[in-house]
Amino acid sequence: MRYAETGVNLEIDLSRGSIEKDQTDPELTKLYLGGQGTAVKILWDRVGPEVEPFSPDNLLIFSSGLLDGSAVSGANRTSVNSISPATHLMSHSLMGSYFGPEMKFAGYDKIIIRGKSPHLVYLWINNDKVEIRDARHLAGKGTRETGDLIRAELGQDKAQVAAIGPAGENRVFTASITHSDASAARGGAGAIMGDKRLKAIAIRGTKDIYFAKPAELFAFCMAARKEIMSRHEETEEVAREKGRSAVYQEMAKHRQQLGDWMATDEDDSFHHDNFAWGNARTRRKNYWNKELEERWRRLKFDNLSRQTGCFNCPKICHNVICIPGGQRFSYKCYAKDTFHMASFQELDFSYEMLPIAEEYGVDAYSTPQIIAFALELLEAGILTDKDFPGMPSDIRGRFHYLLDIIVRREGIGDILANGVYAAARQIGKGAENFDHNTTKKFEQIPIKLGKLNPAFFLMIATGEKMGITQIEGSFPQNPLPTAEEREAFVKEWVAPPDEKFKQYFLQWEKRDQITNQMACEIAEWNEMMHYLDDALGLCAFLSSFRGQFGGKVAYTIHNEPEIISMAAGINLDEKGLWEIGQRNRNLVRALNVRRGMRRKDERPPEDHWAVRNEESEQKLLSDYYAYRGWNEEGIPKAETLNKLGLDYVRKDFEDRGIL
Ligand code: SF4
Repeated sequence: MRYAETGVNLEIDLSRGSIEKDQTDPELTKLYLGGQGTAVKILWDRVGPEVEPFSPDNLLIFSSGLLDGSAVSGANRTSVNSISPATHLMSHSLMGSYFGPEMKFAGYDKIIIRGKSPHLVYLWINNDKVEIRDARHLAGKGTRETGDLIRAELGQDKAQVAAIGPAGENRVFTASITHSDASAARGGAGAIMGDKRLKAIAIRGTKDIYFAKPAELFAFCMAARKEIMSRHEETEEVAREKGRSAVYQEMAKHRQQLGDWMATDEDDSFHHDNFAWGNARTRRKNYWNKELEERWRRLKFDNLSRQTGCFNCPKICHNVICIPGGQRFSYKCYAKDTFHMASFQELDFSYEMLPIAEEYGVDAYSTPQIIAFALELLEAGILTDKDFPGMPSDIRGRFHYLLDIIVRREGIGDILANGVYAAARQIGKGAENFDHNTTKKFEQIPIKLGKLNPAFFLMIATGEKMGITQIEGSFPQNPLPTAEEREAFVKEWVAPPDEKFKQYFLQWEKRDQITNQMACEIAEWNEMMHYLDDALGLCAFLSSFRGQFGGKVAYTIHNEPEIISMAAGINLDEKGLWEIGQRNRNLVRALNVRRGMRRKDERPPEDHWAVRNEESEQKLLSDYYAYRGWNEEGIPKAETLNKLGLDYVRKDFEDRGIL
């Protein structure tokens, strides 16, 4: 009997119209767990480096995490993996809500899409019954609208639907796949789905999932749930009363609120004072004030319909907004800020744009940046008014206009739809100089800081996950100013896999004062926890992203082996689990190395930090490569691959002359 997983992958070939159910090898689960872990193995085995993103041979893989559908709170992530049209490397996208658990209940761990349909179709998966259905009548429909229409058409109001909008149909490189109040938005997964002419997947499952030790697992989950909902005793208010520093208070605030309303919703000084506005250019350090906070609080609560969350998570962290006469939309965390910060407006403008962007199905992180980039080129005279026929003169009107032409790929919108990196090179005439926020050809979160944090340099330079928020999160971003505060923090910090990290934090006084060795270990730990979450299906806000704020964290390297044992019957210790994380991480790197990624690609945006030093950054990068067992080009060495059981990768590299 298979525990925690179904042991079946659904294989759909849209060129041939075939539907197959493949039994999977349980040994692979022991090596890679599930979710993205096993998805990468499939991409490695079946999508060679010669396969272009828009080739019928490219795969689009929906994976439920190993713990999805269990009693483990927050285990609900679906990873969506493919080869990205923007980067030609592996695309990494995760979505929450209900899709992954529903896949398990229908009897499938993965849905693997291959080929291209001759016309628009959708999949209807109702337990064992799987159909490819005509979707031509859904062409041009928005993402939520598509879900509603499909549920009505099927007479299945409980079906979970993941759909693309017009952006995906038009293969916009920032197109997302939207499901409920979540989306797989990074890396252009929606463009791949659109290229395959797959409008949506609707799924309904009513089967059981089996667990190795169900009673023990349930008892553990009930206790963990209580902890997830408990409040830490040193609240932000208590910290303030005790005279703690502003950084400490900020950590205390997040410790309380992360997983509730992400990153403190109404007091959003963090994003507004620290992140860059416009085309990732301008920092407005003292922008935030109490008057704004009050105005934005009113705007939110006057229009808040309700809060929703994901499958089996008590932290209902999505705000659902419904402005009278407008389209319902939802957001969490920084997603509410991207449009108004890119356009130097206020929150009401994001409230205006988000419902439209959600229906079009675009990544709300990258798309506003592309629009701001286009307007910067216009201001610089690289693009002219002729490139924008009929564009309004006001900034809000311009954002609407540009979003429309990008989604429809009309005129200059056809070039902008390829993302900033590609568009800058297509436009030429110096436009490349305005591409200042991409790494590995992909738009990054617009952060501009003063002094470089060496661990963050490594994570941004070498990360392959299309966003720092999917890499960082275990070790705090900033030091605390006093020894007393550091000691108070460390006393209750449960996440570190090793006591040395507590010592590092206790000694850390200035952001850039981290030795290369410390930076290497911190970067590795941060990244490793995300790779494990992505295989298990855990929400990072209860695990890998949360450790940085201290206190208790629901899931860490210390309790995950026991959870896996109770759920899947796979017996591991911390060392064994860490090794799986290493294997999964190195396999992603190998896949991208085979597709041409090298050291030259591992550069954070040039103006990401004000103070830079090329020589010491390159030394740090070399030290990190050596620490990870990679050569000077960032390629995993033969002994690293052999040690991790990736000897098939080593052989492939040798055959191709990569090693
Ligand atoms: S913390 Fe929020 S995003 Fe994460 S699983 Fe819970 S409801 Fe979903």
